[in-house]
Amino acid sequence: MLTMFGVVPKVLWERRMPADPRNRISLGMRCLVIEHDVGLILIETGSGNKEDRKFQDIYGIENEGANGRTALEDGLRAAGYTPDDIAIVIDTHLHFDHAGGNTYRDERGDIRLAFPRARYVVQGGEYHYANHTNERTAASYFARNFVPVFEAGRFDLVDGEREIVPGVTVMPTPGHTPFHQSVLLESSGARALVLGDLVPTAAHLPLPWIMGYDVEPLVTLETKRRVLARALAEEWTLFFGHDPAVAWARLTHDGKTYGAVSDPPPGKSG
Ligand SMILES: [Zn+2]
Repeated sequence: MLTMFGVVPKVLWERRMPADPRNRISLGMRCLVIEHDVGLILIETGSGNKEDRKFQDIYGIENEGANGRTALEDGLRAAGYTPDDIAIVIDTHLHFDHAGGNTYRDERGDIRLAFPRARYVVQGGEYHYANHTNERTAASYFARNFVPVFEAGRFDLVDGEREIVPGVTVMPTPGHTPFHQSVLLESSGARALVLGDLVPTAAHLPLPWIMGYDVEPLVTLETKRRVLARALAEEWTLFFGHDPAVAWARLTHDGKTYGAVSDPPPGKSG
């Protein structure tokens, strides 16, 4: 999609990510499950099952489950879990491709919580922003993805940096949306950052490679400058949600720009 690289010319970005004749590029929609003492923690829920064929074709979404309702549910089952096992859901933000799987549509057409035992965590500012859209932002926020969670009393609306459970901290990373958050994981001395849409793919590591979707691209720039400097100094592993190939990487800097080298995931998560 031309929107994925903002002001970066196509002749530059298509070397890294070839586009199809409709200018679409291949992207992942990756969620992360963490096995924690408190139970399973799910970061991001993908696009869910509620959108119609026309919508799915526009974005080329492939998220149908072979056994469950979605590819996410299939993945959970392949790991030996069910949606009932999720104790905490963390949404980096409420765009449809990150929080669409918070809820699902059942056979009767009713909207239900996809993770009925979980509490859901998002920044309070993001929840408010998602409920007050304008002409530019409305195409990304669908109330059915988050209002039912709020109405069920399951949202934990946080304000700023917060340790959700030991070793799992949400950290404001504004720019893509004003209250976007990333998730810092710490386990036996190692740290990993789930970037969300701050840096959607490894190709977006150079500071000015910012998505056209970002509502505050200059804020994204400063957030990237701050967060990536810390990630480099403290040798964090990075987790990319939209990269078609790279899930985990270690940040590098060659004196001019940021890049990535492959890095195995910390612990046994994958
Ligand atoms: Zn987004």
